[in-house]
Amino acid sequence: MDESILKARGLTKAYGALKATDTLSLEIRTGEIHAIIGPNGAGKTTAIGQLSGELTSDEGTIYFAGRDITRLPVHKRACLGLARSFQITSILLNFTAEDNVAMAVQARDGHSFKFWKSARTDRKLRVPAREVLKEVGLADRADIVADRLSHGEQRQLELAMALATRPALLLLDEPMAGMGPASSRKMVDLLQTLKGRLTILMVEHDMDAVFTLADRITVLVYGRAIATDTPENIHTDPAVRKAYLGENG
Ligand code: ATP
Repeated sequence: MDESILKARGLTKAYGALKATDTLSLEIRTGEIHAIIGPNGAGKTTAIGQLSGELTSDEGTIYFAGRDITRLPVHKRACLGLARSFQITSILLNFTAEDNVAMAVQARDGHSFKFWKSARTDRKLRVPAREVLKEVGLADRADIVADRLSHGEQRQLELAMALATRPALLLLDEPMAGMGPASSRKMVDLLQTLKGRLTILMVEHDMDAVFTLADRITVLVYGRAIATDTPENIHTDPAVRKAYLGENG
């Protein structure tokens, strides 16, 4: 059996003369937390955009769950279980935390939001929504309007909404961005509890979080992967230290 949920080969995306990603190959194993790190401008966000389908690749192929998804648009990739989280705009701020998650459950079940009115009272959505909120530590905030949640809680809510769609692979773009140390720790703990149950590819600048959470790390420099390995091996890799970790002392 193939243990990789995603295989990308030779991904390239150019902006004029600049290659944001340059023949990038990535393999994500089922059940792992895989982190992409690299200096500013290395192409991390571009790579995530190519995988999610928000950006069209100039070259390369992407196989997800054994299917060639290279030319599929975002929503078709999402239907196959490739979900991207941490787009704060996905939260409806005038709705409660539970309403937001219930909508994500409903979307998973293939209904559009126009049926939402009936969904507000639908137990089939309420019950799983409550379960997911509990999973991310927001059970006691279920009835709070999203607008009134703290920034950290909104990130937890976004994670809940992504989890509610039961993704086969979750793409997280800087899950700790804009968080203070306490909220970051909470998010690390939360992601830790998902370890093994969910496959995650994350881009993150917080090295403590990356080295705590990741099973494997890919280091990008100028759009190219210079190494993919365990945190221990990445930490001691001379090329990585020279290109990246060394610059932070
Ligand atoms: P950061 O760590 O700062 O978020 P990153 O590793 O995510 O950076 P990208 O945002 O993917 O890097 O950008 C890679 C390169 O591509 C950068 O040099 C960036 O300026 C350039 N770039 C990204 N998007 C565009 C665009 N839409 N038009 C032109 N250049 C772009």
